[in-house]
Amino acid sequence: MTEATAETTYPIWAVWRWKLHWQILLGIVLGALVGLGLASSVETSAELKDSASFKTLALIAQMFINGLKMLIVPLVAASLIVAMGGIGKRPGFARMGGETLLYYLCTSLIAVLIGITLVNVIAPGVSDDGFVLTQETTDQFSNEQATIKKKVGDKEGSDFFDVFLKMIPSNIVAAAANGQLLGLIVVSLLFGYFMARLNDDKRVVMEQFWGGLYDIAISVTNLVLAFAPIGIAALIAKTLADNVVALGADGRLDQLIGMIFMFAVTTILALGIHALIVMPLILKFVAGVSPIAHLKAMMPAIVTAFSTASSAATLPVTLDCVETRSRVSNRTASFVLPLGATVNMDGTALFECVAALFIAQLYGIDLGMADQFFIIMVALLTSVGVAGVPSASLVAIVIILQAVGVPMEGLAIILVVDRILDMCRTSVNIWGDSCGAVVIAKSEGEDQVLVPQAPNPDTAAT
Ligand code: ASP
Repeated sequence: MTEATAETTYPIWAVWRWKLHWQILLGIVLGALVGLGLASSVETSAELKDSASFKTLALIAQMFINGLKMLIVPLVAASLIVAMGGIGKRPGFARMGGETLLYYLCTSLIAVLIGITLVNVIAPGVSDDGFVLTQETTDQFSNEQATIKKKVGDKEGSDFFDVFLKMIPSNIVAAAANGQLLGLIVVSLLFGYFMARLNDDKRVVMEQFWGGLYDIAISVTNLVLAFAPIGIAALIAKTLADNVVALGADGRLDQLIGMIFMFAVTTILALGIHALIVMPLILKFVAGVSPIAHLKAMMPAIVTAFSTASSAATLPVTLDCVETRSRVSNRTASFVLPLGATVNMDGTALFECVAALFIAQLYGIDLGMADQFFIIMVALLTSVGVAGVPSASLVAIVIILQAVGVPMEGLAIILVVDRILDMCRTSVNIWGDSCGAVVIAKSEGEDQVLVPQAPNPDTAAT
């Protein structure tokens, strides 16, 4: 477990010599212990949030998240412009784009089918004693209702067409500043495409500029990653303490707790089947690589996704792991991953279906085949537009509920456990993107993928 140099042997407790993913795992364990300790030392959420320890943890966690977030815009813009500049002129470009979109569509479809099957079979929202959710119960969740209102605004069923509008931002700087990655992606792809068609003298300067910017952003990512064990420990401690105290003091849940628990189990089981059975099968039989080796390589990104619940904030780490640890070429990774972090959200699409059907079950509403088919379609579409930030899928679930005539107030019930499920679905989102990068790389003939000693195709080419 220790990583000793040739000359020196370090003892096992020399944590700073451990590989990054072991350090991060240690951070998670310590963070969980601190979080549970903190939760048991206070009575109420207010007391917890007032404590100096909680404030310190929140500060460290936020500094780590900010460190990652500040890299999103330069990384997305530079990686896509460089990737598009490199592949935009080659004849195989349309094929690679097509393969990527096909992979996203197929895997998201498999995910929602797993989710919809399990939620129908397990039926977590159907109670044995005939409990049906009423307005009286949902009214008790006024704080959660207010949070949802704030997040969702006055979105309506037809608003999923917004996805198309977001692709063409009226102001690139505003899109970047507001985290509207879809707009930034389209603009970057266009810039890269036309960069490849500039006169040689201008093209070389632009390529060097964007390539240099990309390298700098990756170096800063590595610097931020060195603090990941501490940042992730603080994030886990803060989130756990916050959620344990809130749930423990929540008397409103007495009647619902069993169903909420089954809902969480259904979601986690469905996510598990997708991530640990379907994806490995695709890696093994479509890409011909070892799923375990890729999982090991992706551990820092997966745990970052788990603790931040944000695909966008995790993107710098995903790019770094896929390129340096799984050895996918920069050309493929920098095209597939920024796109995937925004439009390919298997975990989110799956969750949207499970959540919408669970809420319908709570209300005693029986959704037929046609409605469920509609939910699958809307979940696939909205997961493309959902931002890679915590709890972003709530907006999509509101859209689905409104479209099939289920009261959206029921969403407040799942908000109570949303954070932990968000952590799980974001990890699956990231894992799905990284598997996509490997599958596409392999289909592009990249033999070095997941071969530790193989020459790096990017440096070999220059
Ligand atoms: N938190 C998720 C992500 O960033 C989005 C969601 O499902 O809420 O990928």
